[in-house]
Amino acid sequence: METEISLPAGSSREDLDRTIRQRFGTGPYRILRQSLDARRKPKLFWKYRISTGVLPVSPSPEHLLPVARRQGRGRAVVVGSGPAGFFAADILNRAGFSVTLLEQGPPARERRGDILSFEKGGPLLDRSNYAFGEGGAGTFSDGKLTSRTKHISMEREYIRLRYVQYGAPEEILWMAHPHIGSNNLFTLVQQGRQDLLERGVDVRFRQRVVDLLMHRGRCSGVRTDTDEFPADYTLLAPGHSAFPLFRRLYARGAGFQSKGFSLGFRIEHPRELINRAQWGRESVPGLKAAEYRLAAKAESGRGIYTFCMCPGGFVVPAAWREGLNIVNGVSMYERSSPWSNAAVLAAVKPEEIFPKADTPMAVLDSLEALEARAFEHLGAYQVPGTLPPGLPGGRLYSSLPQSSFPFPVVPLDYRQLYPEWLLQDLSDGISRFARQIRGFDTGLILGLETTSSAALKILRSDSGEVLGIPGLYIAGEGSGSAGGIMSSAVDGLRIALQTGA
Ligand SMILES: Cc1cc2nc3c(=O)[nH]c(=O)nc-3n(C[C@H](O)[C@H](O)[C@H](O)COP(=O)(O)OP(=O)(O)OC[C@H]3O[C@@H](n4cnc5c(N)ncnc54)[C@H](O)[C@@H]3O)c2cc1C
Repeated sequence: METEISLPAGSSREDLDRTIRQRFGTGPYRILRQSLDARRKPKLFWKYRISTGVLPVSPSPEHLLPVARRQGRGRAVVVGSGPAGFFAADILNRAGFSVTLLEQGPPARERRGDILSFEKGGPLLDRSNYAFGEGGAGTFSDGKLTSRTKHISMEREYIRLRYVQYGAPEEILWMAHPHIGSNNLFTLVQQGRQDLLERGVDVRFRQRVVDLLMHRGRCSGVRTDTDEFPADYTLLAPGHSAFPLFRRLYARGAGFQSKGFSLGFRIEHPRELINRAQWGRESVPGLKAAEYRLAAKAESGRGIYTFCMCPGGFVVPAAWREGLNIVNGVSMYERSSPWSNAAVLAAVKPEEIFPKADTPMAVLDSLEALEARAFEHLGAYQVPGTLPPGLPGGRLYSSLPQSSFPFPVVPLDYRQLYPEWLLQDLSDGISRFARQIRGFDTGLILGLETTSSAALKILRSDSGEVLGIPGLYIAGEGSGSAGGIMSSAVDGLRIALQTGA
Protein backbone atom coordinates (compact mmCIF):
# COMPACT_ATOMS: atom_id res chain seq x y z
CA MET A 1 0.00 0.00 0.00
CA GLU A 2 1.24 3.51 -0.77
CA THR A 3 0.60 6.41 1.53
CA GLU A 4 1.69 10.02 2.11
CA ILE A 5 3.15 11.19 5.41
CA SER A 6 4.08 14.72 6.35
CA LEU A 7 6.43 15.48 9.26
CA PRO A 8 7.99 18.76 10.41
CA ALA A 9 11.29 19.34 8.59
CA GLY A 10 14.14 18.41 10.85
CA SER A 11 12.36 15.23 12.02
CA SER A 12 14.70 12.28 12.24
CA ARG A 13 14.45 8.82 10.70
CA GLU A 14 13.42 7.60 14.18
CA ASP A 15 10.49 10.05 14.13
CA LEU A 16 9.42 8.60 10.78
CA ASP A 17 9.79 5.01 12.11
CA ARG A 18 7.65 5.88 15.13
CA THR A 19 4.93 7.56 13.04
CA ILE A 20 4.73 4.59 10.70
CA ARG A 21 4.62 2.10 13.59
CA GLN A 22 1.78 4.05 15.20
CA ARG A 23 -0.24 4.19 11.98
CA PHE A 24 0.55 0.90 10.26
CA GLY A 25 2.06 -1.41 12.88
CA THR A 26 5.53 -2.90 12.90
CA GLY A 27 5.65 -4.30 9.34
CA PRO A 28 8.33 -3.27 6.85
CA TYR A 29 8.10 -0.04 4.86
CA ARG A 30 10.04 1.69 2.13
CA ILE A 31 10.44 5.39 1.35
CA LEU A 32 9.53 5.95 -2.29
CA ARG A 33 10.03 9.71 -2.34
CA GLN A 34 10.99 12.49 0.06
CA SER A 35 10.61 16.17 -0.74
CA LEU A 36 10.58 19.44 1.16
CA ASP A 37 7.28 21.29 1.36
CA ALA A 38 7.90 25.02 1.96
CA ARG A 39 4.47 26.30 0.91
CA ARG A 40 3.66 27.35 4.48
CA LYS A 41 7.10 28.79 5.30
CA PRO A 42 8.47 29.40 7.89
CA LYS A 43 6.74 26.11 8.74
CA LEU A 44 8.52 23.48 6.68
CA PHE A 45 7.58 19.83 6.24
CA TRP A 46 9.15 16.70 4.85
CA LYS A 47 6.66 14.99 2.58
CA TYR A 48 7.17 11.24 2.31
CA ARG A 49 5.59 8.76 -0.06
CA ILE A 50 5.78 5.42 1.71
CA SER A 51 5.10 1.86 0.67
CA THR A 52 3.96 -0.49 3.47
CA GLY A 53 2.85 -4.11 3.71
CA VAL A 54 4.44 -6.74 1.47
CA LEU A 55 7.38 -5.06 -0.22
CA PRO A 56 8.86 -6.20 -3.52
CA VAL A 57 12.48 -7.33 -3.20
CA SER A 58 14.85 -4.42 -3.95
CA PRO A 59 16.35 -5.11 -7.34
CA SER A 60 20.10 -5.19 -7.86
CA PRO A 61 21.35 -3.09 -10.80
CA GLU A 62 21.89 -6.31 -12.78
CA HIS A 63 18.29 -7.48 -12.22
CA LEU A 64 16.86 -4.09 -13.02
CA LEU A 65 18.66 -3.88 -16.35
CA PRO A 66 19.50 -7.30 -17.79
CA VAL A 67 22.22 -7.35 -20.47
CA ALA A 68 22.70 -10.41 -22.69
CA ARG A 69 26.27 -11.65 -22.23
CA ARG A 70 27.85 -13.26 -25.28
CA GLN A 71 31.24 -14.81 -25.83
CA GLY A 72 33.48 -13.54 -28.60
CA ARG A 73 32.28 -9.94 -28.67
CA GLY A 74 35.86 -8.81 -29.05
CA ARG A 75 37.66 -5.75 -27.70
CA ALA A 76 35.99 -2.47 -26.79
CA VAL A 77 37.81 0.78 -26.08
CA VAL A 78 36.05 3.51 -24.11
CA VAL A 79 37.69 6.95 -23.89
CA GLY A 80 36.96 9.08 -20.81
CA SER A 81 36.22 7.95 -17.25
CA GLY A 82 33.42 10.46 -16.54
CA PRO A 83 29.84 9.34 -15.93
CA ALA A 84 29.22 8.56 -19.64
CA GLY A 85 32.43 6.56 -20.13
CA PHE A 86 32.03 4.75 -16.83
CA PHE A 87 28.51 3.49 -17.56
CA ALA A 88 29.39 2.61 -21.15
CA ALA A 89 32.31 0.51 -19.86
CA ASP A 90 30.02 -1.08 -17.25
CA ILE A 91 27.45 -2.16 -19.87
CA LEU A 92 30.00 -3.30 -22.48
CA ASN A 93 31.75 -5.40 -19.83
CA ARG A 94 28.45 -7.00 -18.85
CA ALA A 95 27.73 -7.70 -22.54
CA GLY A 96 30.93 -9.74 -22.79
CA PHE A 97 33.39 -7.30 -24.40
CA SER A 98 36.96 -7.22 -23.25
CA VAL A 99 36.92 -3.53 -22.24
CA THR A 100 39.76 -1.02 -21.94
CA LEU A 101 38.85 2.32 -20.33
CA LEU A 102 41.29 5.11 -21.22
CA GLU A 103 41.55 8.32 -19.19
CA GLN A 104 43.99 11.13 -19.92
CA GLY A 105 44.18 12.23 -16.28
CA PRO A 106 45.39 10.52 -13.12
CA PRO A 107 43.47 8.51 -10.49
CA ALA A 108 41.21 10.52 -8.18
CA ARG A 109 43.57 10.63 -5.19
CA GLU A 110 46.42 12.08 -7.22
CA ARG A 111 44.01 14.41 -8.99
CA ARG A 112 42.80 15.76 -5.67
CA GLY A 113 46.41 16.51 -4.68
CA ASP A 114 46.97 18.35 -7.98
CA ILE A 115 43.84 20.47 -7.49
CA LEU A 116 44.76 21.32 -3.89
CA SER A 117 48.26 22.28 -4.97
CA PHE A 118 46.85 24.47 -7.79
CA GLU A 119 44.55 26.24 -5.35
CA LYS A 120 47.55 26.97 -3.15
CA GLY A 121 49.33 28.70 -6.03
CA GLY A 122 50.84 25.72 -7.88
CA PRO A 123 50.50 25.14 -11.62
CA LEU A 124 47.25 24.17 -13.33
CA LEU A 125 48.00 20.77 -14.85
CA ASP A 126 46.37 20.28 -18.22
CA ARG A 127 45.34 16.67 -17.52
CA SER A 128 44.54 16.90 -13.84
CA ASN A 129 42.09 19.60 -12.81
CA TYR A 130 38.39 20.16 -12.12
CA ALA A 131 37.53 18.96 -15.64
CA PHE A 132 39.97 16.12 -16.29
CA GLY A 133 41.06 13.03 -14.38
CA GLU A 134 39.36 9.98 -12.89
CA GLY A 135 35.58 10.37 -12.77
CA GLY A 136 35.62 13.29 -15.22
CA ALA A 137 34.03 16.65 -14.49
CA GLY A 138 31.61 14.87 -12.18
CA THR A 139 34.17 13.98 -9.48
CA PHE A 140 34.95 17.29 -7.79
CA SER A 141 31.49 18.63 -8.44
CA ASP A 142 28.34 19.25 -6.50
CA GLY A 143 27.02 15.79 -7.26
CA LYS A 144 23.42 16.77 -7.84
CA LEU A 145 21.71 13.94 -9.66
CA THR A 146 18.77 15.93 -10.96
CA SER A 147 18.18 15.84 -14.70
CA ARG A 148 15.64 17.42 -17.01
CA THR A 149 15.94 14.52 -19.46
CA LYS A 150 12.60 12.75 -19.86
CA HIS A 151 11.81 9.02 -20.07
CA ILE A 152 14.90 7.76 -18.27
CA SER A 153 13.33 6.35 -15.11
CA MET A 154 14.76 2.83 -15.49
CA GLU A 155 18.26 4.01 -16.44
CA ARG A 156 18.19 6.60 -13.65
CA GLU A 157 17.29 3.89 -11.14
CA TYR A 158 20.13 1.69 -12.42
CA ILE A 159 22.65 4.53 -12.08
CA ARG A 160 21.47 5.45 -8.60
CA LEU A 161 21.67 1.81 -7.48
CA ARG A 162 25.23 1.56 -8.81
CA TYR A 163 26.18 4.79 -7.00
CA VAL A 164 24.75 3.44 -3.73
CA GLN A 165 26.68 0.20 -4.33
CA TYR A 166 29.84 2.36 -4.57
CA GLY A 167 29.11 4.20 -1.33
CA ALA A 168 26.71 7.06 -2.15
CA PRO A 169 24.17 7.82 0.62
CA GLU A 170 21.16 5.49 0.27
CA GLU A 171 18.78 8.45 0.35
CA ILE A 172 19.65 9.27 -3.29
CA LEU A 173 17.26 6.43 -4.16
CA TRP A 174 14.25 8.40 -2.92
CA MET A 175 15.14 12.09 -2.44
CA ALA A 176 13.33 14.40 -4.88
CA HIS A 177 16.61 16.35 -5.26
CA PRO A 178 19.33 13.74 -4.74
CA HIS A 179 22.79 15.08 -3.92
CA ILE A 180 25.99 13.12 -3.38
CA GLY A 181 28.53 15.84 -2.56
CA SER A 182 32.13 16.15 -3.66
CA ASN A 183 33.53 14.30 -0.63
CA ASN A 184 31.37 11.22 -1.34
CA LEU A 185 32.03 11.36 -5.08
CA PHE A 186 35.75 11.12 -4.43
CA THR A 187 35.26 7.74 -2.73
CA LEU A 188 32.54 6.63 -5.12
CA VAL A 189 34.58 6.95 -8.32
CA GLN A 190 37.39 4.92 -6.76
CA GLN A 191 34.97 2.19 -5.65
CA GLY A 192 33.51 2.18 -9.15
CA ARG A 193 36.96 1.74 -10.66
CA GLN A 194 37.67 -1.13 -8.23
CA ASP A 195 34.44 -2.84 -9.31
CA LEU A 196 35.36 -2.51 -13.01
CA LEU A 197 38.87 -3.86 -12.32
CA GLU A 198 37.48 -6.86 -10.43
CA ARG A 199 35.19 -7.56 -13.39
CA GLY A 200 38.18 -7.60 -15.73
CA VAL A 201 38.05 -4.09 -17.24
CA ASP A 202 41.50 -2.75 -18.07
CA VAL A 203 41.51 0.81 -16.65
CA ARG A 204 44.41 2.95 -17.91
CA PHE A 205 45.24 6.42 -16.64
CA ARG A 206 47.43 9.09 -18.29
CA GLN A 207 46.45 7.90 -21.76
CA ARG A 208 45.47 10.88 -23.87
CA VAL A 209 43.79 9.89 -27.11
CA VAL A 210 45.27 11.97 -29.92
CA ASP A 211 43.87 10.19 -32.97
CA LEU A 212 41.79 7.32 -34.29
CA LEU A 213 43.05 4.12 -35.83
CA MET A 214 41.33 3.56 -39.18
CA HIS A 215 41.09 0.35 -41.20
CA ARG A 216 39.36 0.26 -44.60
CA GLY A 217 37.47 3.45 -43.86
CA ARG A 218 36.24 2.33 -40.43
CA CYS A 219 37.42 3.32 -37.00
CA SER A 220 39.37 0.41 -35.54
CA GLY A 221 40.55 1.82 -32.22
CA VAL A 222 42.50 4.80 -30.93
CA ARG A 223 46.03 6.12 -30.69
CA THR A 224 47.16 7.76 -27.47
CA ASP A 225 50.29 9.83 -27.01
CA THR A 226 52.15 6.69 -25.91
CA ASP A 227 50.36 3.67 -27.34
CA GLU A 228 47.84 2.18 -29.77
CA PHE A 229 44.62 0.44 -28.73
CA PRO A 230 43.02 -1.53 -31.59
CA ALA A 231 39.37 -2.40 -30.94
CA ASP A 232 36.26 -3.97 -32.45
CA TYR A 233 34.10 -1.28 -30.82
CA THR A 234 35.26 2.29 -30.04
CA LEU A 235 33.29 4.75 -27.94
CA LEU A 236 34.40 8.27 -27.02
CA ALA A 237 33.05 9.92 -23.86
CA PRO A 238 35.46 12.87 -23.59
CA GLY A 239 33.18 15.44 -21.95
CA HIS A 240 32.57 19.09 -22.67
CA SER A 241 36.14 20.35 -22.79
CA ALA A 242 37.97 17.90 -25.07
CA PHE A 243 38.66 20.66 -27.61
CA PRO A 244 41.89 19.11 -29.01
CA LEU A 245 40.09 15.81 -29.64
CA PHE A 246 37.12 17.56 -31.28
CA ARG A 247 39.50 19.32 -33.66
CA ARG A 248 41.08 15.99 -34.58
CA LEU A 249 37.68 14.38 -35.18
CA TYR A 250 36.64 17.30 -37.37
CA ALA A 251 39.82 16.94 -39.42
CA ARG A 252 38.95 13.25 -39.80
CA GLY A 253 35.57 14.17 -41.27
CA ALA A 254 33.23 13.84 -38.28
CA GLY A 255 29.91 15.66 -38.68
CA PHE A 256 29.69 18.63 -36.31
CA GLN A 257 26.95 21.21 -35.96
CA SER A 258 27.04 24.36 -33.86
CA LYS A 259 23.97 24.85 -31.69
CA GLY A 260 22.46 27.21 -29.16
CA PHE A 261 24.20 27.18 -25.80
CA SER A 262 24.41 29.28 -22.64
CA LEU A 263 26.77 31.91 -21.28
CA GLY A 264 26.87 33.78 -18.01
CA PHE A 265 28.62 33.78 -14.65
CA ARG A 266 28.26 32.49 -11.09
CA ILE A 267 26.39 34.47 -8.50
CA GLU A 268 27.17 33.94 -4.83
CA HIS A 269 25.13 34.94 -1.77
CA PRO A 270 25.43 34.35 1.94
CA ARG A 271 23.76 30.99 2.57
CA GLU A 272 21.52 32.58 5.21
CA LEU A 273 20.11 35.09 2.71
CA ILE A 274 18.92 32.26 0.48
CA ASN A 275 17.65 30.24 3.46
CA ARG A 276 15.64 33.21 4.68
CA ALA A 277 14.06 33.75 1.27
CA GLN A 278 13.23 30.08 0.68
CA TRP A 279 12.46 28.87 4.19
CA GLY A 280 11.50 32.07 6.00
CA ARG A 281 14.31 31.30 8.47
CA GLU A 282 18.09 31.52 8.43
CA SER A 283 18.48 27.92 9.51
CA VAL A 284 16.34 24.90 10.26
CA PRO A 285 17.74 22.11 12.45
CA GLY A 286 18.16 18.98 10.35
CA LEU A 287 18.13 20.82 7.01
CA LYS A 288 21.35 21.71 5.20
CA ALA A 289 20.91 24.73 2.91
CA ALA A 290 18.06 26.03 0.78
CA GLU A 291 17.94 25.50 -2.96
CA TYR A 292 16.43 27.55 -5.76
CA ARG A 293 15.83 27.22 -9.48
CA LEU A 294 14.77 30.39 -11.27
CA ALA A 295 13.87 31.31 -14.82
CA ALA A 296 12.68 34.55 -16.39
CA LYS A 297 12.58 36.40 -19.67
CA ALA A 298 14.73 39.49 -20.11
CA GLU A 299 13.15 42.62 -21.57
CA SER A 300 14.50 41.49 -24.96
CA GLY A 301 12.63 38.19 -24.67
CA ARG A 302 15.80 36.13 -24.08
CA GLY A 303 15.56 33.26 -21.61
CA ILE A 304 17.63 33.76 -18.45
CA TYR A 305 17.88 31.02 -15.85
CA THR A 306 19.83 29.73 -12.90
CA PHE A 307 21.66 26.44 -13.20
CA CYS A 308 23.68 24.00 -11.12
CA MET A 309 22.81 25.66 -7.83
CA CYS A 310 25.22 24.74 -5.03
CA PRO A 311 23.65 25.46 -1.63
CA GLY A 312 26.28 25.76 1.10
CA GLY A 313 28.94 25.33 -1.59
CA PHE A 314 32.01 26.88 -3.17
CA VAL A 315 32.86 28.55 -6.45
CA VAL A 316 35.92 26.90 -8.02
CA PRO A 317 38.40 27.60 -10.83
CA ALA A 318 37.35 24.96 -13.37
CA ALA A 319 39.68 25.70 -16.32
CA TRP A 320 40.73 22.62 -18.28
CA ARG A 321 44.07 24.05 -19.40
CA GLU A 322 46.52 26.73 -18.43
CA GLY A 323 45.60 30.23 -19.57
CA LEU A 324 41.81 29.86 -19.32
CA ASN A 325 39.57 31.33 -16.66
CA ILE A 326 36.30 29.43 -16.12
CA VAL A 327 34.28 29.02 -12.93
CA ASN A 328 31.90 26.35 -11.68
CA GLY A 329 30.30 25.34 -8.39
CA VAL A 330 30.79 22.46 -5.96
CA SER A 331 29.57 21.41 -2.54
CA MET A 332 30.30 18.79 0.07
CA TYR A 333 27.58 16.41 1.22
CA GLU A 334 27.08 18.53 4.37
CA ARG A 335 26.48 21.70 2.31
CA SER A 336 27.78 23.71 5.22
CA SER A 337 29.85 26.54 3.71
CA PRO A 338 28.58 30.05 4.55
CA TRP A 339 27.76 30.66 0.86
CA SER A 340 25.31 29.46 -1.76
CA ASN A 341 26.02 29.91 -5.46
CA ALA A 342 24.50 29.20 -8.85
CA ALA A 343 25.18 29.92 -12.49
CA VAL A 344 23.10 32.72 -14.02
CA LEU A 345 22.88 31.97 -17.72
CA ALA A 346 21.50 33.41 -20.93
CA ALA A 347 20.55 31.19 -23.83
CA VAL A 348 22.51 32.38 -26.89
CA LYS A 349 22.84 31.38 -30.52
CA PRO A 350 26.39 30.99 -31.85
CA GLU A 351 25.81 33.56 -34.61
CA GLU A 352 24.72 36.20 -32.05
CA ILE A 353 27.70 35.87 -29.80
CA PHE A 354 30.37 34.92 -32.36
CA PRO A 355 29.10 36.53 -35.61
CA LYS A 356 32.36 35.88 -37.46
CA ALA A 357 32.51 32.18 -36.58
CA ASP A 358 31.22 30.52 -39.74
CA THR A 359 32.23 26.91 -39.04
CA PRO A 360 31.77 24.67 -35.99
CA MET A 361 35.52 24.80 -35.29
CA ALA A 362 35.47 28.60 -35.49
CA VAL A 363 32.77 28.55 -32.78
CA LEU A 364 35.04 26.35 -30.67
CA ASP A 365 38.00 28.70 -31.25
CA SER A 366 35.88 31.73 -30.31
CA LEU A 367 34.67 30.07 -27.13
CA GLU A 368 38.22 29.22 -26.12
CA ALA A 369 39.31 32.78 -26.91
CA LEU A 370 36.52 34.08 -24.64
CA GLU A 371 37.67 31.79 -21.82
CA ALA A 372 41.22 33.05 -22.34
CA ARG A 373 40.14 36.71 -22.29
CA ALA A 374 39.42 36.81 -18.56
CA PHE A 375 42.77 35.19 -17.86
CA GLU A 376 44.56 37.68 -20.09
CA HIS A 377 42.86 40.63 -18.39
CA LEU A 378 43.88 39.47 -14.95
CA GLY A 379 47.08 37.64 -15.84
CA ALA A 380 46.24 34.72 -13.56
CA TYR A 381 43.51 32.59 -12.05
CA GLN A 382 42.17 35.44 -9.92
CA VAL A 383 38.55 35.76 -10.81
CA PRO A 384 36.77 38.81 -12.23
CA GLY A 385 33.94 40.05 -10.05
CA THR A 386 31.26 42.70 -9.92
CA LEU A 387 27.84 43.43 -8.42
CA PRO A 388 24.56 43.23 -10.39
CA PRO A 389 23.91 47.01 -10.64
CA GLY A 390 27.36 47.44 -12.20
CA LEU A 391 26.80 44.92 -14.97
CA PRO A 392 25.39 46.95 -17.88
CA GLY A 393 27.29 50.20 -17.22
CA GLY A 394 30.56 48.48 -16.40
CA ARG A 395 30.94 50.13 -13.00
CA LEU A 396 34.14 49.22 -11.17
CA TYR A 397 33.62 48.58 -7.45
CA SER A 398 36.43 49.47 -5.10
CA SER A 399 35.62 46.54 -2.87
CA LEU A 400 33.54 43.40 -3.23
CA PRO A 401 31.98 41.03 -0.68
CA GLN A 402 33.94 38.06 0.64
CA SER A 403 33.76 34.96 -1.48
CA SER A 404 34.34 31.21 -1.30
CA PHE A 405 36.58 31.39 -4.38
CA PRO A 406 40.13 30.22 -3.52
CA PHE A 407 41.88 33.10 -5.37
CA PRO A 408 41.38 36.88 -5.07
CA VAL A 409 38.29 38.41 -6.69
CA VAL A 410 39.29 41.38 -8.85
CA PRO A 411 36.72 44.07 -9.77
CA LEU A 412 36.32 44.14 -13.55
CA ASP A 413 34.17 45.92 -16.09
CA TYR A 414 32.31 42.93 -17.55
CA ARG A 415 31.99 44.75 -20.88
CA GLN A 416 35.56 43.62 -21.45
CA LEU A 417 34.29 40.04 -21.47
CA TYR A 418 30.72 40.03 -22.76
CA PRO A 419 28.81 42.29 -25.19
CA GLU A 420 26.54 44.91 -23.63
CA TRP A 421 23.29 43.33 -24.89
CA LEU A 422 24.18 40.10 -23.09
CA LEU A 423 25.01 41.94 -19.87
CA GLN A 424 21.74 43.88 -20.12
CA ASP A 425 19.77 40.65 -20.52
CA LEU A 426 21.56 38.95 -17.62
CA SER A 427 20.99 42.06 -15.51
CA ASP A 428 17.25 42.03 -16.39
CA GLY A 429 17.11 38.39 -15.36
CA ILE A 430 18.72 39.11 -11.99
CA SER A 431 16.24 41.95 -11.33
CA ARG A 432 13.38 39.56 -12.00
CA PHE A 433 14.91 36.86 -9.80
CA ALA A 434 15.08 39.43 -6.98
CA ARG A 435 11.27 39.52 -7.02
CA GLN A 436 11.29 35.85 -6.06
CA ILE A 437 14.34 35.83 -3.79
CA ARG A 438 14.71 38.99 -1.78
CA GLY A 439 18.28 40.24 -1.95
CA PHE A 440 19.18 38.16 -5.02
CA ASP A 441 20.40 41.35 -6.71
CA THR A 442 22.95 41.92 -3.93
CA GLY A 443 24.91 38.78 -4.85
CA LEU A 444 28.53 38.73 -5.94
CA ILE A 445 29.01 38.03 -9.65
CA LEU A 446 32.04 35.89 -10.37
CA GLY A 447 33.96 34.74 -13.42
CA LEU A 448 32.69 33.29 -16.66
CA GLU A 449 30.41 30.29 -16.79
CA THR A 450 30.86 28.86 -20.27
CA THR A 451 30.63 25.10 -19.81
CA SER A 452 27.03 24.57 -18.73
CA SER A 453 26.08 23.33 -22.19
CA ALA A 454 28.00 22.35 -25.31
CA ALA A 455 28.19 24.77 -28.24
CA LEU A 456 28.66 21.90 -30.69
CA LYS A 457 26.81 18.74 -31.41
CA ILE A 458 28.46 15.73 -33.00
CA LEU A 459 26.02 14.24 -35.47
CA ARG A 460 25.12 10.59 -35.16
CA SER A 461 23.90 8.42 -38.03
CA ASP A 462 20.79 6.23 -37.78
CA SER A 463 23.02 3.39 -36.63
CA GLY A 464 24.32 5.59 -33.80
CA GLU A 465 27.80 6.02 -35.30
CA VAL A 466 29.51 9.39 -35.57
CA LEU A 467 28.43 10.78 -38.93
CA GLY A 468 31.41 10.59 -41.30
CA ILE A 469 33.38 8.06 -39.21
CA PRO A 470 31.87 4.56 -39.43
CA GLY A 471 32.66 2.35 -36.46
CA LEU A 472 33.03 5.27 -34.01
CA TYR A 473 30.50 6.05 -31.27
CA ILE A 474 30.28 9.05 -28.97
CA ALA A 475 28.34 9.60 -25.74
CA GLY A 476 27.90 12.06 -22.89
CA GLU A 477 28.37 15.78 -22.73
CA GLY A 478 31.03 15.79 -25.46
CA SER A 479 28.46 14.57 -27.98
CA GLY A 480 26.42 17.72 -27.41
CA SER A 481 23.39 15.52 -26.73
CA ALA A 482 23.66 15.32 -22.93
CA GLY A 483 24.70 17.51 -20.02
CA GLY A 484 25.05 16.95 -16.29
CA ILE A 485 26.02 13.83 -14.39
CA MET A 486 22.77 11.90 -14.72
CA SER A 487 21.99 12.73 -18.33
CA SER A 488 25.59 12.00 -19.42
CA ALA A 489 25.61 8.72 -17.50
CA VAL A 490 22.29 7.73 -19.12
CA ASP A 491 23.63 8.64 -22.56
CA GLY A 492 26.75 6.48 -22.06
CA LEU A 493 24.65 3.59 -20.83
CA ARG A 494 22.12 3.88 -23.67
CA ILE A 495 24.64 4.24 -26.48
CA ALA A 496 26.52 1.19 -25.19
CA LEU A 497 23.27 -0.79 -24.89
CA GLN A 498 21.93 0.23 -28.29
CA THR A 499 25.09 0.00 -30.34
CA GLY A 500 27.39 -2.41 -28.52
CA ALA A 501 25.55 -4.80 -26.23
C1 LIG B 1 32.96 21.84 -10.89
C2 LIG B 1 31.82 21.14 -11.60
C3 LIG B 1 30.63 20.90 -10.89
C4 LIG B 1 29.57 20.23 -11.51
N1 LIG B 1 28.45 19.92 -10.77
C5 LIG B 1 27.48 19.17 -11.33
C6 LIG B 1 26.36 18.73 -10.57
O1 LIG B 1 26.23 18.98 -9.38
N2 LIG B 1 25.40 17.99 -11.19
C7 LIG B 1 25.48 17.67 -12.51
O2 LIG B 1 24.59 16.99 -13.02
N3 LIG B 1 26.53 18.07 -13.26
C8 LIG B 1 27.53 18.79 -12.70
N4 LIG B 1 28.61 19.17 -13.46
C9 LIG B 1 28.65 18.76 -14.88
C10 LIG B 1 28.98 17.27 -14.98
O3 LIG B 1 30.10 17.00 -14.20
C11 LIG B 1 29.20 16.89 -16.42
O4 LIG B 1 28.05 17.23 -17.16
C12 LIG B 1 29.45 15.40 -16.57
O5 LIG B 1 30.55 15.00 -15.80
C13 LIG B 1 29.68 15.03 -18.03
O6 LIG B 1 29.96 13.66 -18.09
P1 LIG B 1 30.80 13.02 -19.28
O7 LIG B 1 31.09 11.63 -18.87
O8 LIG B 1 30.10 13.25 -20.56
O9 LIG B 1 32.16 13.86 -19.37
P2 LIG B 1 33.23 14.22 -18.27
O10 LIG B 1 32.72 14.00 -16.91
O11 LIG B 1 33.71 15.57 -18.62
O12 LIG B 1 34.39 13.15 -18.49
C14 LIG B 1 35.18 13.13 -19.65
C15 LIG B 1 36.52 12.49 -19.34
O13 LIG B 1 37.18 12.25 -20.57
C16 LIG B 1 38.55 12.53 -20.42
N5 LIG B 1 39.12 12.88 -21.73
C17 LIG B 1 38.86 13.97 -22.49
N6 LIG B 1 39.59 13.96 -23.61
C18 LIG B 1 40.34 12.83 -23.56
C19 LIG B 1 41.32 12.27 -24.43
N7 LIG B 1 41.66 12.87 -25.58
N8 LIG B 1 41.90 11.11 -24.07
C20 LIG B 1 41.57 10.49 -22.90
N9 LIG B 1 40.66 10.99 -22.04
C21 LIG B 1 40.04 12.14 -22.37
C22 LIG B 1 38.60 13.69 -19.46
O14 LIG B 1 39.85 13.76 -18.80
C23 LIG B 1 37.44 13.38 -18.52
O15 LIG B 1 37.87 12.71 -17.36
C24 LIG B 1 29.69 19.83 -12.87
C25 LIG B 1 30.87 20.10 -13.58
C26 LIG B 1 31.92 20.75 -12.96
C27 LIG B 1 33.18 21.02 -13.75
